[in-house]
This record gives sequence, C-alpha cells and structure tokens, in this order.
Amino acid sequence: MILTSENYHSLEANKEYLSVSQYKDFAGTLGKPACEEQALAKLNGDWEMEMTTALLVGSYVDAHFESTLDVFKAKNPEIFTKQGQLKAEYRRAEEIINRIERDDYFMKYMSGQKQVIMTAELFGAKWKIKIDSYLDDIAIVDLKVMESLTKQFWTKDFGYMDFTQYWGYDIQGAVYQEVVYQNTGKRLPFFIAAASKEKEPNIEIIQIDDDHLKEKLYEVEQNTPKILLLKDKMADPIRCGICDWCKHTKVLTKPIHYSELLGEV
Ligand SMILES: [Zn+2]
Repeated sequence: MILTSENYHSLEANKEYLSVSQYKDFAGTLGKPACEEQALAKLNGDWEMEMTTALLVGSYVDAHFESTLDVFKAKNPEIFTKQGQLKAEYRRAEEIINRIERDDYFMKYMSGQKQVIMTAELFGAKWKIKIDSYLDDIAIVDLKVMESLTKQFWTKDFGYMDFTQYWGYDIQGAVYQEVVYQNTGKRLPFFIAAASKEKEPNIEIIQIDDDHLKEKLYEVEQNTPKILLLKDKMADPIRCGICDWCKHTKVLTKPIHYSELLGEV
C-alpha cells in the first residue's frame, strides 16, 4: 500500500510495514520490557494503548510545528475545559513552543520538511518512518517533549542512563538514518530536538553519533527475523506477564508464593 498521513497509523499499514514503535513493542527497549503477545494484540486490533495526556501534549507541539494545530484542536476537544479554555497541560505546551521559537538555533533544526514519510526494506522487512523535520541532504530531526532532559534512568543490567537510550530513541535514529540512506544514498546525522515540560522549559539539540546508531542497527538486524515470524504467525508470542495486556488476559489457576511477587529483582 502507498502510505499517506491519513493511513500511516492504520492497522493495515502496521501489518504490512514495521515501524520503530512496533519494533519496540516486540523487542522492548532498555526501559520497557518487550511483550510479543501485546504487540500482536495491538496489530490485530484486540488491544489499544491508552492515549495519555503526556502523549497528547507531545502531539500538540508536533501539530504546532506541522502547522496543523487547528485540525488537532478540532480532533481533540478534550484538551479544552468546559469554558473553552486550553487545559493547564496544553497552556504549558504553548509555553514550550514559545521557548523553542525564541531560540534561532533550535528553529534551524525545525525548519525542514515536516512529517516526511519514507519506506525501505531492511533485513527482510518493509519499514515505514515519519520524520518530524527532514532537512534534505543535511539532517534528520525528531522533536521530543520530555518531562526532563537530564533525568537519570536506572536499569538492572546497564546502570544509569539518559532518556534517549532508556526509551530507545537511539533505535529510532538508527532505523531512520538507514531508511533515508536507502532512499537517497546519503547517510545524514540524526538529531533529537528536545524540550522539557519543566516549569522553566529546557531545550537542547542532541546528536546521537553514527557509531552508536550502527550498534543499534545491528541489534535491529538481530531482532527483525523473529518479529517477522511472529507477524506471519509462524512463532508463538511470549507474554511479558507484567504489561496491561497480560494483566487484562491472565487466568488464575493456582496461588503463588509471596516471594514470587517481586519477580527476579
Ligand atoms: Zn505483556
């Protein structure tokens, strides 16, 4: 199928193409364990992720820079109070936008083509990507609105790390860079244009270097065959046991010992 901004997020598109968020559902990130069964349930339309205010605030800022805020407001009436005022979270989003717009350097990175869709075949799978700001021949930029840009996250296996690694934005950079390379023959640098939701919004342009992206792309290469098997129903999905889907569908058959409650800590 030919992808458009209208069908990009459809189930049909997700079945035909792998996306980074779908990949992360199947393979997990350092911060979020994989749940293959939930990933498939989403693809089959059996499970929908809750649209949280945090996600909606990010979409609000995206919509502003894409010049589609009017459409966004019409589609999401819940962002207004009964009196027709923007709710506090979206007034904060407006402050973030203002902070970004008074930084010329940040705005340079946001001056590319917005929401550019590309596809490519990588590791036997068809992939789709949507770039927030694509500067032809120059850079790939993804806009992220985070709680904080400097918060440290902890994982058992890797210790402390920043938000980009924790949430797998380096995986996103790796796939985006490779898909653009397949389309244009140019390996462009990947940047996260980041802003925080703190009382005083923080802003940064963050580069994830090519060596790190290469490592992440190798991981994607390792994980993709299994994902394709799962999507083709040629392998049985593993349940993570802790996500909302697993909680929603679990069927009790015996008691557990209290020491099992915390899992393998
Ligand atoms: Zn699960």
